[in-house]
Amino acid sequence: MELKKLVDISPEVYEHSFDKAALSKLRSLPGFDTVIKFMLNWSYVKWHLVDLQGSNFHVTRESCPELYSLVKNVGSTLDVEELPEIYTEWGYAVNGYTTGIKENTLMVLYSGAVDLLSESQLRFVVGHEMGHVKSGHVLYHMMAEVFSTMIGFIPLGETLLAPIHYALLYWNRMSEFTADRAGLLACQDKDEAIKAIVKMAGMPIKYFDKIDNAAFLKQAEDFEKISSGIMDAAIRTISIASSTHPWTVFRAGQLLKWIESGEYDKVLTDYAGVPCCHCQNIVVRNAKICNVCGLPPFD
Ligand SMILES: [Zn+2]
Ligand SMILES: [Zn+2]
Repeated sequence: MELKKLVDISPEVYEHSFDKAALSKLRSLPGFDTVIKFMLNWSYVKWHLVDLQGSNFHVTRESCPELYSLVKNVGSTLDVEELPEIYTEWGYAVNGYTTGIKENTLMVLYSGAVDLLSESQLRFVVGHEMGHVKSGHVLYHMMAEVFSTMIGFIPLGETLLAPIHYALLYWNRMSEFTADRAGLLACQDKDEAIKAIVKMAGMPIKYFDKIDNAAFLKQAEDFEKISSGIMDAAIRTISIASSTHPWTVFRAGQLLKWIESGEYDKVLTDYAGVPCCHCQNIVVRNAKICNVCGLPPFD
């Protein structure tokens, strides 16, 4: 399937409302800027990133061309200008994570994700991580990672920073919904995206050839029904639950809702680039001038 390259797409067009609301609440909390400033200048953060780079496999054009080019291609599909540094980490979680500070952004993929996903499903996972990069989530992810350690270094940290810590964990979970949408825009295949989530949710490898998306989505629907009365409380509970419980069923349900609302198709149509008839450079649908050859692209 020919993938559409999205041009000039701002993450705002697909960001999930839960994510937006949680992030603006987090940013408005007293002391939030101070905590960010502290973190950016804290030597532990630099050490943490060096440790990560020294322990994992660095994926480059030379060291692992196939994976590098897949990530680069996802970046180009989602219109991400600066690619993060890519690493793989040994572990059979079907997942990845993104961390770092502005000038040092790292995307880490577990070997399980690379080994156990089809190319299209891996595009979903890489696109998910790229979505975090595009929406500027990475710095706050880093903060969520080091927060518990950081609290110990700040006088009265535990008491003063509790509201920020809570809001951070909550937002961290909400940011997953936005990233899943970016993942889907990167793989552009609804079935493969859901299959990737099924694998993340714990489908044993020996049944991978029998994945039944409809049954999983039914689980997502049922889950929404049983939890509807307590949804708010439920969301709050997961937000502070361990990250080993990524609430995959709920994420699949939210992604399905976005697809069914027609928004996904609309974003794909609105932002899919079109080749310039003179030089084949991909330009926005209603471009007047091609930014490569300088001619009107549709004459
Ligand atoms: Zn994520
Ligand atoms: Zn052109």
